Amino acid sequence: MELKEYQDVWVFVQCFQGQPRDVGFELLGQGRLLADGLQQKLCAVVIGKDVDEGIKGATEYGADIIYVVQGAEYENYSSDAYGHAFLELCEKYHPNTILIGATANGRDLGSKLAICLHTGLTADCTALSVEADTGNVVWERPAFGGNLYARILCSETRPQMGTVRPGAFKKLEKCKNNQAVIIRENIRTAEADILTKVVGFIKAHDESGVKLEEAEYIVSGGRGMKGPENFEMLQELADLLGGTVGASRASVDAGWVPQTKQVGQTGKTVTPKVYIACGISGAVQHLAGMHEADTIIAINKDASAPIFEVADYGIVGDALEMIPAMIKEIRAVKN
Ligand code: FAD
Repeated sequence: MELKEYQDVWVFVQCFQGQPRDVGFELLGQGRLLADGLQQKLCAVVIGKDVDEGIKGATEYGADIIYVVQGAEYENYSSDAYGHAFLELCEKYHPNTILIGATANGRDLGSKLAICLHTGLTADCTALSVEADTGNVVWERPAFGGNLYARILCSETRPQMGTVRPGAFKKLEKCKNNQAVIIRENIRTAEADILTKVVGFIKAHDESGVKLEEAEYIVSGGRGMKGPENFEMLQELADLLGGTVGASRASVDAGWVPQTKQVGQTGKTVTPKVYIACGISGAVQHLAGMHEADTIIAINKDASAPIFEVADYGIVGDALEMIPAMIKEIRAVKN
């Protein structure tokens, strides 16, 4: 097949127990830009046992076409079942571009598809655009420890594929009047072909129940917090704001907070309304995960710390004194 025969931009709308994850909708926003640039259609792929919410969301977030594969064997993600269903769809419809959220399952699916389809995959993209003359998607991502940004093209093969971390882009507004064409494909995967079985789930996010990638307020602590005991005041502030706690890699490496809390290039990408960085220097690898926050407040003893270059509000001072003062003020306003 010639490259130009591959048509449409596909977005995988990942669901967990029937509930779509936000990253699929974030990617539908980016997919729309690519589809318009390529003058092609924007399509969503929904695979699962319960698919209604995925279809509803994909419609509201602007898909022109939704490919649906439904069956009991798709209740939980598995490489074998999801990989098989997605590959069958690709072999029938020949998409031009595939966008997948860089969750654990999305990374697994993306690499499996790329290998089976003999095409390229760019992981953890932070910006996407289209080269008008060639129709190649320009996949942009940090390289060499975040010190430069690489622009990667998949110019020889189709589909062109990329993963994007949850939270890297914001969702577009819902379009209530969108009428998507729904195409149901009866693709079944035999139980014997599914080599892994899900036996249960253990929640990994914190007790407050607010997930880092979805939090509107994040209070993040770095090495300047001095020890794990001082993260309690960060938690208290986060609770007051209805948010959650994040951390720099230095705090994670020191064993003060679990890795699931790490923000940055090798942690989570977050786009909260407010990000409060406490005792964090602002290394490029940390900034890579939080610089898109709407408002950044930095507290650091060192007035020349790089975090102040991205901060909207900077407080030069001791975080161990500033945080309790902030907690006191917020309590006073709330009461
Ligand atoms: P430091 O750089 O040690 O900064 C501590 C800051 O606290 C200083 O600015 C200091 O002035 C201030 N301070 C000290 N005491 C106080 C006080 N009482 N009150 C207020 N301020 C105080 N890092 C990440 O965060 N996320 C990543 O995903 C990540 N990925 C990486 C990937 C690679 C390949 C590499 C090479 C590095 C990565 N890093 C990452 C590490 C990164 O380079 C930095 O080392 C790390 O972010 C530093 O963490 P920090 O700011 O907490 O510590």
